[in-house]
Amino acid sequence: MNNTSPPLLSIVAPCHNEEEGLREFCRRAVATARSIAGDAFEIVLVDDGSTDGTWEIIAALGREVPQVLGVRLMRNHGHQLAATAGLAATRGERVLLIDADLQDPPELLLMMMPIMDRGADVVYGQRVRREGESWFKLASASLFYRLLSRLASVAIPRDVGDFRLMRRRVVDILLAMPERDRFIRGMVSWIGGRQVALSYERDARFAGTTKYPLRKMVNFAIDAITSFSTVPLRISTWLGMVSAACAILLLIYTVVRWIEGETIIGWSSIMAAITAFSAIQLICIGIIGEYIGRLVQENKRRPMFMIESLAQAGRSIEITGD
Ligand code: UDP
Ligand code: MG
Repeated sequence: MNNTSPPLLSIVAPCHNEEEGLREFCRRAVATARSIAGDAFEIVLVDDGSTDGTWEIIAALGREVPQVLGVRLMRNHGHQLAATAGLAATRGERVLLIDADLQDPPELLLMMMPIMDRGADVVYGQRVRREGESWFKLASASLFYRLLSRLASVAIPRDVGDFRLMRRRVVDILLAMPERDRFIRGMVSWIGGRQVALSYERDARFAGTTKYPLRKMVNFAIDAITSFSTVPLRISTWLGMVSAACAILLLIYTVVRWIEGETIIGWSSIMAAITAFSAIQLICIGIIGEYIGRLVQENKRRPMFMIESLAQAGRSIEITGD
Protein backbone atom coordinates (compact mmCIF):
# COMPACT_ATOMS: atom_id res chain seq x y z
CA MET A 1 0.00 0.00 0.00
CA ASN A 2 1.19 3.48 -0.78
CA ASN A 3 1.72 5.30 2.49
CA THR A 4 1.34 8.79 1.13
CA SER A 5 -2.11 8.55 -0.46
CA PRO A 6 -4.86 7.59 1.96
CA PRO A 7 -6.89 4.49 1.08
CA LEU A 8 -10.42 4.92 -0.26
CA LEU A 9 -11.90 2.57 2.25
CA SER A 10 -11.17 1.50 5.81
CA ILE A 11 -12.85 -1.34 7.63
CA VAL A 12 -12.65 -1.38 11.43
CA ALA A 13 -13.50 -4.46 13.47
CA PRO A 14 -13.06 -4.72 17.25
CA CYS A 15 -12.28 -8.29 18.29
CA HIS A 16 -12.48 -9.80 21.73
CA ASN A 17 -11.78 -13.55 21.85
CA GLU A 18 -12.82 -14.09 18.26
CA GLU A 19 -10.17 -16.63 17.25
CA GLU A 20 -12.65 -19.07 15.72
CA GLY A 21 -14.31 -16.70 13.30
CA LEU A 22 -11.66 -14.14 12.60
CA ARG A 23 -10.08 -15.69 9.52
CA GLU A 24 -13.44 -16.19 7.90
CA PHE A 25 -14.37 -12.58 8.72
CA CYS A 26 -11.13 -11.30 7.24
CA ARG A 27 -11.58 -13.38 4.10
CA ARG A 28 -15.05 -11.99 3.46
CA ALA A 29 -14.08 -8.41 4.38
CA VAL A 30 -11.03 -8.48 2.10
CA ALA A 31 -13.03 -9.94 -0.80
CA THR A 32 -15.70 -7.25 -0.44
CA ALA A 33 -13.24 -4.39 -0.02
CA ARG A 34 -11.16 -5.57 -2.97
CA SER A 35 -14.19 -5.68 -5.27
CA ILE A 36 -14.92 -2.05 -4.35
CA ALA A 37 -11.54 -0.39 -3.98
CA GLY A 38 -9.00 -2.65 -5.69
CA ASP A 39 -5.97 -2.52 -3.43
CA ALA A 40 -6.79 0.90 -1.97
CA PHE A 41 -8.33 -0.27 1.28
CA GLU A 42 -7.23 -1.10 4.79
CA ILE A 43 -8.64 -3.42 7.41
CA VAL A 44 -8.01 -2.42 11.01
CA LEU A 45 -8.44 -5.31 13.44
CA VAL A 46 -8.40 -4.21 17.07
CA ASP A 47 -7.57 -6.86 19.63
CA ASP A 48 -9.47 -5.73 22.69
CA GLY A 49 -7.53 -7.59 25.38
CA SER A 50 -8.32 -11.08 24.12
CA THR A 51 -7.24 -14.02 26.22
CA ASP A 52 -7.31 -16.56 23.40
CA GLY A 53 -5.29 -16.70 20.17
CA THR A 54 -6.95 -13.66 18.58
CA TRP A 55 -3.80 -11.54 18.49
CA GLU A 56 -1.69 -14.33 16.95
CA ILE A 57 -4.27 -14.64 14.18
CA ILE A 58 -4.35 -10.87 13.64
CA ALA A 59 -0.55 -10.78 13.48
CA ALA A 60 -0.52 -13.66 10.98
CA LEU A 61 -3.19 -11.95 8.86
CA GLY A 62 -1.07 -8.79 8.94
CA ARG A 63 1.84 -10.72 7.43
CA GLU A 64 -0.33 -12.41 4.81
CA VAL A 65 -2.46 -9.47 3.69
CA PRO A 66 -0.65 -6.13 3.28
CA GLN A 67 -3.90 -4.20 3.84
CA VAL A 68 -4.44 -5.61 7.33
CA LEU A 69 -3.39 -3.43 10.25
CA GLY A 70 -3.50 -4.96 13.72
CA VAL A 71 -3.97 -2.82 16.81
CA ARG A 72 -3.58 -4.46 20.17
CA LEU A 73 -4.95 -2.74 23.27
CA MET A 74 -3.16 -3.14 26.58
CA ARG A 75 -6.24 -4.64 28.22
CA ASN A 76 -9.93 -5.13 27.61
CA HIS A 77 -11.54 -1.74 27.15
CA GLY A 78 -14.94 -2.82 25.86
CA HIS A 79 -16.42 -2.69 22.40
CA GLN A 80 -17.03 1.07 22.24
CA LEU A 81 -13.48 2.07 23.16
CA ALA A 82 -11.94 -0.67 21.01
CA ALA A 83 -13.96 0.66 18.08
CA THR A 84 -12.78 4.20 18.86
CA ALA A 85 -9.15 3.04 18.92
CA GLY A 86 -9.67 1.38 15.55
CA LEU A 87 -11.33 4.47 14.07
CA ALA A 88 -8.41 6.59 15.26
CA ALA A 89 -6.04 4.36 13.28
CA THR A 90 -7.92 4.68 9.99
CA ARG A 91 -7.03 6.98 7.13
CA GLY A 92 -9.67 6.04 4.58
CA GLU A 93 -12.09 8.46 2.92
CA ARG A 94 -14.90 6.15 3.98
CA VAL A 95 -14.87 4.03 7.09
CA LEU A 96 -16.94 0.94 7.81
CA LEU A 97 -17.37 -0.05 11.46
CA ILE A 98 -18.38 -3.68 11.79
CA ASP A 99 -18.41 -6.51 14.36
CA ALA A 100 -15.87 -9.25 13.78
CA ASP A 101 -18.30 -12.07 14.58
CA LEU A 102 -19.95 -11.98 11.13
CA GLN A 103 -23.32 -11.02 12.60
CA ASP A 104 -23.15 -8.02 10.30
CA PRO A 105 -22.46 -9.25 6.77
CA PRO A 106 -19.46 -7.38 5.28
CA GLU A 107 -21.04 -7.81 1.84
CA LEU A 108 -23.66 -5.20 2.80
CA LEU A 109 -20.93 -2.67 2.05
CA LEU A 110 -21.68 -3.25 -1.63
CA MET A 111 -25.10 -1.68 -1.02
CA MET A 112 -23.88 1.00 1.37
CA MET A 113 -21.33 2.45 -1.05
CA PRO A 114 -23.81 3.55 -3.77
CA ILE A 115 -25.99 5.22 -1.10
CA MET A 116 -22.97 7.21 0.02
CA ASP A 117 -22.14 8.00 -3.62
CA ARG A 118 -25.54 9.68 -3.73
CA GLY A 119 -24.55 12.00 -0.90
CA ALA A 120 -25.17 10.27 2.43
CA ASP A 121 -22.71 11.07 5.22
CA VAL A 122 -23.60 7.96 7.22
CA VAL A 123 -25.24 4.74 6.08
CA TYR A 124 -26.23 2.60 9.05
CA GLY A 125 -27.50 -0.93 9.12
CA GLN A 126 -30.94 -1.37 10.64
CA ARG A 127 -31.76 -4.90 11.74
CA VAL A 128 -35.05 -6.29 10.56
CA ARG A 129 -34.57 -9.77 11.94
CA ARG A 130 -32.06 -11.21 14.33
CA GLU A 131 -31.00 -14.79 13.95
CA GLY A 132 -29.85 -16.94 16.82
CA GLU A 133 -30.46 -14.53 19.69
CA SER A 134 -32.36 -15.39 22.83
CA TRP A 135 -35.80 -13.94 23.54
CA PHE A 136 -34.25 -12.24 26.56
CA LYS A 137 -31.68 -10.42 24.43
CA LEU A 138 -34.38 -9.37 21.96
CA ALA A 139 -36.77 -8.21 24.70
CA SER A 140 -34.10 -6.32 26.65
CA ALA A 141 -32.77 -4.70 23.46
CA SER A 142 -36.27 -3.59 22.51
CA LEU A 143 -36.93 -2.17 25.99
CA PHE A 144 -33.59 -0.36 25.88
CA TYR A 145 -34.27 1.28 22.52
CA ARG A 146 -37.74 2.38 23.66
CA LEU A 147 -36.46 3.86 26.91
CA LEU A 148 -33.59 5.60 25.19
CA SER A 149 -35.77 7.15 22.51
CA ARG A 150 -38.06 8.57 25.20
CA LEU A 151 -35.24 9.95 27.34
CA ALA A 152 -32.62 11.15 24.89
CA SER A 153 -32.78 14.59 23.36
CA VAL A 154 -31.42 13.44 19.99
CA ALA A 155 -33.33 10.93 17.88
CA ILE A 156 -31.37 7.69 18.06
CA PRO A 157 -32.83 5.22 15.57
CA ARG A 158 -34.14 1.92 16.87
CA ASP A 159 -32.62 -1.50 16.19
CA VAL A 160 -29.42 0.06 14.99
CA GLY A 161 -26.05 -1.11 16.19
CA ASP A 162 -22.69 0.37 15.41
CA PHE A 163 -22.54 -1.31 11.98
CA ARG A 164 -22.24 1.70 9.70
CA LEU A 165 -20.33 3.33 6.88
CA MET A 166 -19.17 6.86 7.67
CA ARG A 167 -17.52 9.61 5.74
CA ARG A 168 -14.09 10.79 6.89
CA ARG A 169 -15.62 14.06 8.03
CA VAL A 170 -18.01 12.27 10.40
CA VAL A 171 -15.23 10.05 11.76
CA ASP A 172 -13.06 13.09 12.43
CA ILE A 173 -15.84 14.84 14.38
CA LEU A 174 -16.54 11.63 16.29
CA LEU A 175 -12.87 11.35 17.26
CA ALA A 176 -12.82 15.01 18.28
CA MET A 177 -15.56 14.39 20.86
CA PRO A 178 -13.54 13.98 24.03
CA GLU A 179 -15.97 12.14 26.30
CA ARG A 180 -14.78 8.94 27.87
CA ASP A 181 -18.06 7.07 28.18
CA ARG A 182 -18.72 6.60 24.53
CA PHE A 183 -21.99 5.54 22.99
CA ILE A 184 -20.98 5.60 19.35
CA ARG A 185 -24.33 5.14 17.67
CA GLY A 186 -25.83 8.01 19.70
CA MET A 187 -22.83 10.26 19.11
CA VAL A 188 -23.05 9.68 15.36
CA SER A 189 -26.78 10.52 15.44
CA TRP A 190 -25.92 13.67 17.35
CA ILE A 191 -23.44 14.73 14.64
CA GLY A 192 -26.24 14.81 12.09
CA GLY A 193 -25.70 15.32 8.37
CA ARG A 194 -27.40 13.04 5.90
CA GLN A 195 -27.89 9.70 7.62
CA VAL A 196 -29.56 6.89 5.76
CA ALA A 197 -30.78 3.53 7.09
CA LEU A 198 -30.25 0.29 5.21
CA SER A 199 -32.25 -2.71 6.40
CA TYR A 200 -30.55 -6.04 6.78
CA GLU A 201 -31.05 -9.35 8.48
CA ARG A 202 -28.68 -9.85 11.35
CA ASP A 203 -27.17 -13.31 11.20
CA ALA A 204 -26.30 -15.58 14.08
CA ARG A 205 -22.71 -15.43 15.28
CA PHE A 206 -20.33 -17.36 13.03
CA ALA A 207 -18.57 -18.82 16.07
CA GLY A 208 -18.08 -18.21 19.76
CA THR A 209 -20.54 -16.63 22.15
CA THR A 210 -21.71 -13.11 22.81
CA LYS A 211 -19.28 -10.96 24.76
CA TYR A 212 -22.16 -8.96 26.14
CA PRO A 213 -23.45 -10.72 29.23
CA LEU A 214 -26.24 -9.07 31.24
CA ARG A 215 -23.81 -7.12 33.41
CA LYS A 216 -22.15 -5.47 30.41
CA MET A 217 -25.50 -4.84 28.77
CA VAL A 218 -26.82 -3.03 31.84
CA ASN A 219 -23.62 -0.96 32.06
CA PHE A 220 -23.89 -0.15 28.37
CA ALA A 221 -27.51 0.94 28.80
CA ILE A 222 -26.61 3.15 31.77
CA ASP A 223 -23.76 4.75 29.78
CA ALA A 224 -26.09 5.34 26.87
CA ILE A 225 -28.84 6.92 28.93
CA THR A 226 -26.66 9.03 31.16
CA SER A 227 -24.53 10.32 28.30
CA PHE A 228 -27.56 11.37 26.28
CA SER A 229 -30.00 12.40 28.92
CA THR A 230 -30.11 14.13 32.28
CA VAL A 231 -33.79 13.22 32.67
CA PRO A 232 -33.07 10.68 35.45
CA LEU A 233 -31.70 13.54 37.57
CA ARG A 234 -35.06 15.21 37.26
CA ILE A 235 -36.84 12.27 38.90
CA SER A 236 -36.33 13.61 42.43
CA THR A 237 -37.77 16.99 41.45
CA TRP A 238 -40.89 15.22 40.22
CA LEU A 239 -41.08 12.96 43.27
CA GLY A 240 -40.76 16.07 45.42
CA MET A 241 -43.65 17.74 43.65
CA VAL A 242 -45.78 14.62 44.00
CA SER A 243 -45.12 14.40 47.74
CA ALA A 244 -45.81 18.12 48.14
CA ALA A 245 -49.20 17.53 46.51
CA CYS A 246 -49.80 14.58 48.87
CA ALA A 247 -48.90 16.75 51.85
CA ILE A 248 -51.41 19.40 50.83
CA LEU A 249 -54.19 16.84 50.26
CA LEU A 250 -53.45 15.26 53.62
CA LEU A 251 -53.60 18.62 55.31
CA ILE A 252 -56.99 19.38 53.77
CA TYR A 253 -58.23 15.94 54.80
CA THR A 254 -57.13 16.35 58.42
CA VAL A 255 -58.62 19.83 58.67
CA VAL A 256 -61.95 18.51 57.33
CA ARG A 257 -61.89 15.62 59.82
CA TRP A 258 -61.05 18.07 62.63
CA ILE A 259 -64.03 20.26 61.70
CA GLU A 260 -66.19 17.13 61.72
CA GLY A 261 -64.90 16.57 65.22
CA GLU A 262 -62.97 13.36 64.54
CA THR A 263 -59.30 13.58 65.43
CA ILE A 264 -56.63 11.08 66.34
CA ILE A 265 -54.30 12.93 68.66
CA GLY A 266 -50.86 13.45 67.15
CA TRP A 267 -51.51 11.58 63.89
CA SER A 268 -52.19 14.62 61.69
CA SER A 269 -49.25 16.63 62.86
CA ILE A 270 -46.81 13.73 62.41
CA MET A 271 -48.13 12.82 58.96
CA ALA A 272 -48.14 16.43 57.83
CA ALA A 273 -44.59 16.93 59.04
CA ILE A 274 -43.32 13.74 57.38
CA THR A 275 -44.86 14.44 53.98
CA ALA A 276 -44.01 18.13 53.98
CA PHE A 277 -40.40 17.59 54.95
CA SER A 278 -39.83 14.73 52.54
CA ALA A 279 -41.26 16.91 49.81
CA ILE A 280 -38.88 19.71 50.72
CA GLN A 281 -35.92 17.31 50.80
CA LEU A 282 -36.75 15.73 47.47
CA ILE A 283 -37.18 19.11 45.84
CA CYS A 284 -33.80 20.23 47.20
CA ILE A 285 -32.12 17.07 45.89
CA GLY A 286 -33.85 17.73 42.59
CA ILE A 287 -32.45 21.26 42.43
CA ILE A 288 -28.95 19.93 43.09
CA GLY A 289 -29.62 17.32 40.39
CA GLU A 290 -30.48 20.04 37.91
CA TYR A 291 -27.14 21.72 38.48
CA ILE A 292 -25.26 18.42 38.30
CA GLY A 293 -27.03 17.84 35.00
CA ARG A 294 -25.59 21.11 33.67
CA LEU A 295 -22.13 20.09 34.86
CA VAL A 296 -22.42 16.75 33.11
CA GLN A 297 -23.42 18.41 29.87
CA GLU A 298 -20.69 21.04 30.04
CA ASN A 299 -18.01 18.58 31.06
CA LYS A 300 -18.39 16.70 27.80
CA ARG A 301 -16.84 19.64 25.97
CA ARG A 302 -18.46 18.59 22.77
CA PRO A 303 -18.09 20.93 19.82
CA MET A 304 -20.95 23.42 19.92
CA PHE A 305 -21.81 23.11 16.25
CA MET A 306 -20.61 21.44 13.12
CA ILE A 307 -20.52 23.32 9.86
CA GLU A 308 -21.71 21.40 6.84
CA SER A 309 -20.51 23.85 4.20
CA LEU A 310 -20.26 27.58 3.58
CA ALA A 311 -21.50 29.51 0.58
CA GLN A 312 -20.27 32.89 -0.47
CA ALA A 313 -21.37 34.80 -3.57
CA GLY A 314 -22.56 31.61 -5.17
CA ARG A 315 -19.37 29.78 -4.31
CA SER A 316 -19.64 26.84 -2.01
CA ILE A 317 -16.71 25.82 0.11
CA GLU A 318 -16.58 22.37 1.64
CA ILE A 319 -15.31 22.25 5.19
CA THR A 320 -13.80 18.93 6.03
CA GLY A 321 -12.92 17.71 9.48
CA ASP A 322 -13.29 19.93 12.52
N1 UDP B 1 -16.01 -6.87 21.54
C1 UDP B 1 -14.88 -6.15 21.94
N2 UDP B 1 -14.65 -5.95 23.28
C2 UDP B 1 -15.50 -6.43 24.25
C3 UDP B 1 -16.68 -7.12 23.82
C4 UDP B 1 -16.89 -7.32 22.48
O1 UDP B 1 -14.10 -5.70 21.11
O2 UDP B 1 -15.23 -6.22 25.42
C5 UDP B 1 -16.25 -7.08 20.10
C6 UDP B 1 -16.57 -8.52 19.72
O3 UDP B 1 -15.40 -9.22 19.42
C7 UDP B 1 -17.45 -8.33 18.49
C8 UDP B 1 -18.17 -7.02 18.77
O4 UDP B 1 -17.40 -6.34 19.75
O5 UDP B 1 -16.68 -8.17 17.31
C9 UDP B 1 -19.58 -7.24 19.26
O6 UDP B 1 -19.59 -8.04 20.41
P1 UDP B 1 -20.64 -9.23 20.62
O7 UDP B 1 -20.85 -9.96 19.35
O8 UDP B 1 -20.20 -10.02 21.78
O9 UDP B 1 -21.96 -8.41 20.99
P2 UDP B 1 -23.46 -8.73 20.49
O10 UDP B 1 -23.40 -8.88 18.99
O11 UDP B 1 -23.85 -9.97 21.18
O12 UDP B 1 -24.24 -7.53 20.91
MG1 MG C 1 -22.23 -10.17 18.04
